[in-house]
Amino acid sequence: MPEGGSGLITARVQGYAPGCNVALIDEAFALAAQAHGAQTRDNGDPYITHPVAVAEILAGYHLDVASICTALLHDTVEDTQVTMREIEARFGPAIAGLVDGVTKLNKLELQSDRTKQAENFRKLVLAMSRDIRVLLVKLADRLHNMRTLGFVQKRERRQRIAHETMDIYAPLAARIGMDALKTELQNRAFAELEPEAHGTIQARLNYLRGQGADVIEEVRRELRQVCQDGGVGVLEVSGREKSAFSIWQKMQMRNVAFEQLSDIMAFRVVVPTREQCYMALGAVHNAFPVIAGRFKDYISTPKTNGYQSLHTGVTLRHPRNQKIEVQIRTREMHDIADNGVAAHWNYKEPDSEPPSEAKNFGWVKDLLEILDNSAAPDEFLENTKLELYQDQVFCFTPKGQLIQLPRGATPIDFAYAVHSQVGDTTVGAKINGRLMPLRTELANGDQVEIMTARGGTPSPSWERWVVTGKARARIRRYVAAQQRAHTIEQGRTALARAFRQEGLDGSEKVLETALKSLKCATLADMYVAVGSGNLGPRDVVHAAYPELLEAARAPRMMPALLARSPTAKPPSRDSGLAITGLVSGMAVHYAGCCHALPGDPIVGIVTTGKGVTIHTKGCSTLETFAATPERFIDVDWDYAASAEAPNGKKTHTGRISVIAVNEPATLGNLTNAVARQDGGVTNLKIVNRQQDFIEILVDVEVRDLRHLSMVIAGLRAVSGLTQVERDHA
Ligand code: MN
Repeated sequence: MPEGGSGLITARVQGYAPGCNVALIDEAFALAAQAHGAQTRDNGDPYITHPVAVAEILAGYHLDVASICTALLHDTVEDTQVTMREIEARFGPAIAGLVDGVTKLNKLELQSDRTKQAENFRKLVLAMSRDIRVLLVKLADRLHNMRTLGFVQKRERRQRIAHETMDIYAPLAARIGMDALKTELQNRAFAELEPEAHGTIQARLNYLRGQGADVIEEVRRELRQVCQDGGVGVLEVSGREKSAFSIWQKMQMRNVAFEQLSDIMAFRVVVPTREQCYMALGAVHNAFPVIAGRFKDYISTPKTNGYQSLHTGVTLRHPRNQKIEVQIRTREMHDIADNGVAAHWNYKEPDSEPPSEAKNFGWVKDLLEILDNSAAPDEFLENTKLELYQDQVFCFTPKGQLIQLPRGATPIDFAYAVHSQVGDTTVGAKINGRLMPLRTELANGDQVEIMTARGGTPSPSWERWVVTGKARARIRRYVAAQQRAHTIEQGRTALARAFRQEGLDGSEKVLETALKSLKCATLADMYVAVGSGNLGPRDVVHAAYPELLEAARAPRMMPALLARSPTAKPPSRDSGLAITGLVSGMAVHYAGCCHALPGDPIVGIVTTGKGVTIHTKGCSTLETFAATPERFIDVDWDYAASAEAPNGKKTHTGRISVIAVNEPATLGNLTNAVARQDGGVTNLKIVNRQQDFIEILVDVEVRDLRHLSMVIAGLRAVSGLTQVERDHA
């Protein structure tokens, strides 16, 4: 047991909660210390240091005694002899419920594949819908595990934990407004997952810091002066550098090189009142040139997580000319911004009513609804991730009801947000009174009127236009049902034709006799197998009339798409990632115009005798096939097969267009940067050479779309490369 026992933690809690039940914390500590006994952490420290560290993180948010006790006990039920019953007897049902919630998540965390991870997330959502404190404890637990990640020996395990942190815990922390915690989680995961990129950006930050001496301090003083001159009572001005990860994210999202990304500093001005926020804004805008498009008023329209602030971007005066971000808020807004939901769980008198948990968090309810509509846990994770990452827009119904949606949302998202039934039967939309296409991106303040028709149904193309998980899950479910009905019809027709050609009885009664030998459970399954090309109609004929098998050995032509052409090459295994939706035996080519990568939406074009050519769905070449729709086939990347081999081969070619400063070192820097992201340059063409700039097309061997994005982001970090983009033919 470490020196001092529970003294430090109780002293800390008493600091903000003088009358609290210290004895309960002592008891939780004693039980945890005794239960974990001689167990140690990866770094050799006694295990009890971990629950204590988690409790300390929560004490930093001034959380209540129940949360602190839960933190101390969070690993006991899983790792030691302590039982839930014992915890309930000693600490009561509330703490027992919290410990149970966290324990259930821990168990699942040990699983590694994506389905299990999704399942884990599902449990987390359920647990936090009952009590959001489960999430607070879990986030603190994860933060401490990330702080000590370096001690974990196996790289594979470190990577898994970092991925999970990036994909799930950081977005959740953001969603409940715990900004500082989110930033630390992201940065630590980033350093583990992308050590090269993290190192590059950190080095550049250090360099800039070295040059600028104490820029932050000087700007801080200048901002304070400007506000005071404007008659604002400034409580606090703080400045910080943005995190390496947030810079990296910006470089990936916008097409900017590090040089252009000059606003790497952010400042916060805290003032006494809401009115003074706007006064301070006026003073800042008066003193510095404003950067267009950067002003956001989250005070009059707070973010969904409760965040309030004024945001603006300004350019510093000569000689710096640097861009900075300024956030202006009151003390209360500041507390919520830093602590988010945790601010609502601050210590209260022991007898006071607990806040009404999930009720305040509409998004938890939304997550549960997505969960009910998603077929597989994996799909659920995908839908939910979309939701968690987005920024918000605010729109209104004709009656003035506010509907919050992620940025990029369309009237279809809006319709589904109003009600699933409205979404399903949407046929049109009026935005601000004007009839607009359903794919229109909604803007803040839009009034949206959805037009529905009885019997209206979702269209498969909608899926490309929606950004909310709820809409996506509903559309997918509908389309999958439709597709199955359609495939059954195709299979039925193909079978009827095959039996007719042979002059045989193909009634359902006959077909049923073939089910067993074809390993189909039902007739519908057999129709689907035939309709999707996984089973040849002739195979069914032979299964129903086995005596015909001999006679059928002679070659014969089949309908083009369903034929198993003996001359076609087997699907090439070195295509990196297999493609689904093909008849077995079809040869696969990748079109040179669009360079489809795993991750791109794709479509196949059939050429008789040649096989299938894969294009991206957005490829302009596809227009030339518009008159022959029968040549289009529905294909997709076989992600399930690729999951078995997560580090797929780099056998896809991505094309990048680069505009660079015309200097001797440029090409070398470029190829080095590609190599650092584990890409291989296969072709490099200078398409335009000017005095100052050159324009280059670079072909890079990559695993998939994500890998290409990494390479592009890596290039954007290189000095001298002013514009880097994926080249679309
Ligand atoms: Mn733990």
